[in-house]
Amino acid sequence: MTKQISILGSTGSIGVNAINVVQSFPDQFQVKYLSAQSQVDLLIDQAKKHKPSAVSIGDETQYEIVRQALPGTEVLKGRDGLLELAGRDDVDIMLNGIVGSAGMEPTIQSILAGVDVALSNKESLVMAGDLINKLLLKKGVNLYPVDSEHSAIWQCLTGENAADIKRLVVTGSGGPFRTLPESAFKDITVEQALNHPNWAMGRKITIDSATLMNKGLEVIEAYWLFQLPQDKIDIVIHPQSIIHSMVEFVDGSVKAQLGLPDMKIPLQYALSYPRHFPQAWEQLDLAKIGTLTFEEPDFNKFKCLQLAFDALEGGGSLPVVLNVANEEAVYRFLGGEIPFTAIPELITKAMDDHDFLEHPSLDDILALEKWTQAFIKRS
Ligand code: MG
Repeated sequence: MTKQISILGSTGSIGVNAINVVQSFPDQFQVKYLSAQSQVDLLIDQAKKHKPSAVSIGDETQYEIVRQALPGTEVLKGRDGLLELAGRDDVDIMLNGIVGSAGMEPTIQSILAGVDVALSNKESLVMAGDLINKLLLKKGVNLYPVDSEHSAIWQCLTGENAADIKRLVVTGSGGPFRTLPESAFKDITVEQALNHPNWAMGRKITIDSATLMNKGLEVIEAYWLFQLPQDKIDIVIHPQSIIHSMVEFVDGSVKAQLGLPDMKIPLQYALSYPRHFPQAWEQLDLAKIGTLTFEEPDFNKFKCLQLAFDALEGGGSLPVVLNVANEEAVYRFLGGEIPFTAIPELITKAMDDHDFLEHPSLDDILALEKWTQAFIKRS
């Protein structure tokens, strides 16, 4: 049976890769909805090719352009249009490829509609993991991870008993500044930070990979996805990005999932689960790679990683503020307004200054998002 798919954030890095995957299996997948924030030309191209029933454009000034380019297609606009599309129940799976905290509400809308979610937007779980897990149970909805590390853990856990897990080991490449001395961090340029050694990704996540905030966010994501205590989730730096994560069991047995660092592989698996669909992508050749190495993460040098661990341990509203402050600080760094080293400094300030809430509601989270955005903009 053909799966009807909604792709939110269809013009971003994940969205474009998702469309590549979907179009290689026309008998398996059909694009039902697309949404984009502002890349109107690409959205129109995608819609002409895949003929979705409806599209949504975030930037309302572009609405007329989209509407005129796609006669016969329903066109929605703005934040309300996105949330309406996310809440429709006539799809089998929603792929959330939206960047940042803007992706949280669409995840919740889909779950409320009873639609399974393939989640690339890790910020959803970082900000609202507790609420989302409760809704998943209530609605009987499945959440399939797209992030390579979580896909790896998910695959390693297949057929296993939760009681047998000793710990999860999340791998990370260490980013472009793994070997750079901390004294040189203040001079890091945007161009250097955007030059990731292994993964081709969007700009925001590439900066997060340079600060190692991405790894911190992934530990928080893993905490909610796999529901293990924080002390059972560890990180190991693995510069080759071939092992995408591991699970260690109580008898000392360790399972790892390997593959080339190509986000299309975990992305496709989130859509094809429980099957693996054949692809003629470049295959993993371990003899050619030769050496896989591992090292401890440096929490002193990569302050964002420590902040993420602190936020997870402190719980409540801390991960919300961590995530939103990081996002705003990253955009200020990308805009040339602040140095690389100011990113953790601003996040620390926001985490210290906010009014802590032990059990934030969705309204609390949305209010904190606004507060944190304003705080970082004026700091
Ligand atoms: Mg990842």
